[in-house]
Amino acid sequence: MFDLKKILRPHILTLTPYASARDEYAGTEGIFLDANENPLGSVTPQPYNRYPDPYQWSLKEKISSIRNVPAKQIFLGNGSDEAIDLIIRATCTPAQDEVILLPPTYGMYEVSANIHEVRLVKVPLTPQFQIDVPAVLKAITPRTKLIFLCSPNNPTGNLLRKEDMQQIIKQFNGLVVVDEAYIDFAPEHTFVSKLQEYENLVVLQTFSKAWGLAGLRLGMAFASEEIVQVLNKLKPPYNISILTQEVVEKYIDNIAAKDRMVTQILSDKQLLIQHLQQLPIVEKIHPSDANFLLVKVSDASSVYRHLVNDRIIVRDRSKVILCEGCLRISVGNGEENNQLVTSLKSFSKMVSV
Ligand SMILES: *Cc1c(COP(=O)(O)O)cnc(C)c1O
Repeated sequence: MFDLKKILRPHILTLTPYASARDEYAGTEGIFLDANENPLGSVTPQPYNRYPDPYQWSLKEKISSIRNVPAKQIFLGNGSDEAIDLIIRATCTPAQDEVILLPPTYGMYEVSANIHEVRLVKVPLTPQFQIDVPAVLKAITPRTKLIFLCSPNNPTGNLLRKEDMQQIIKQFNGLVVVDEAYIDFAPEHTFVSKLQEYENLVVLQTFSKAWGLAGLRLGMAFASEEIVQVLNKLKPPYNISILTQEVVEKYIDNIAAKDRMVTQILSDKQLLIQHLQQLPIVEKIHPSDANFLLVKVSDASSVYRHLVNDRIIVRDRSKVILCEGCLRISVGNGEENNQLVTSLKSFSKMVSV
């Protein structure tokens, strides 16, 4: 049986969080002399002199309506990276508790765990980049607090099988974090709809990829009210700026623009696949449910350097487990993709003479 109290670090349960000025008085009308703000205004024409809403209620209501999750089950972070960090901090006692990762996967899980001196247990994905369910279940110990599942996975690009994910969630008594940073490219596969079913599920999403707002830093965690309350307790009080809250709130209605970009990127991806397939240096293009491709090439390091020389930057994943010889390539705009293919063609010609 999942019991959140057993998963949290003991001191988190009794922790008194920082009470911000806006916690003590939440009204919007009045003379505010409680936060040592500048009463005259700011150096910009905008009223940035006031601290933002620490719980971002207005924005959460909007996210709630497009994602069909009550606002109280939404946590907002300075990027989903902040949520990853807070989840580890809330659950894992340093040098004692364990986190299970399924490499090859997103690097921040390992970095965050290392920062907090939390033990990592790595259970590699299968050669088809799917969960090795028996191996994951076997790796669970009484010290295991968290399992990270990334679907679609970075850097491999594929969705994990739903049944496998559900088996892990059902059989593990700790928290399962499902990172859906790329879910807008395969929206029918979201686990957000399963939050009612599983108390130990946290789903991460972000505005950084499909929404095109990486520069604003806004990530979402969807979970039970209890879990969201814990994350709120640990976060820096004003973690999302007024600028970010206002801009996202204003443009979130423009979901059609996001959908248009997703459609465009997915069709550009198909075109890019067709062009890459014709190149003799391309050995394999892994199936992708996201906005990037994991591509196996002959002599990845040389290809990488050749591209950099042409001022085209991709991610060299050739030293990563199960990604030997692979580059991770984000789908660019039409012109960028053409230049990529042209550069790869010129490399092919060079090596074939
Ligand atoms: C890009 C990415 C993120 C980062 O999201 P931010 O909201 O920009 O911090 C999270 N998870 C995965 C798997 C990613 O690829």
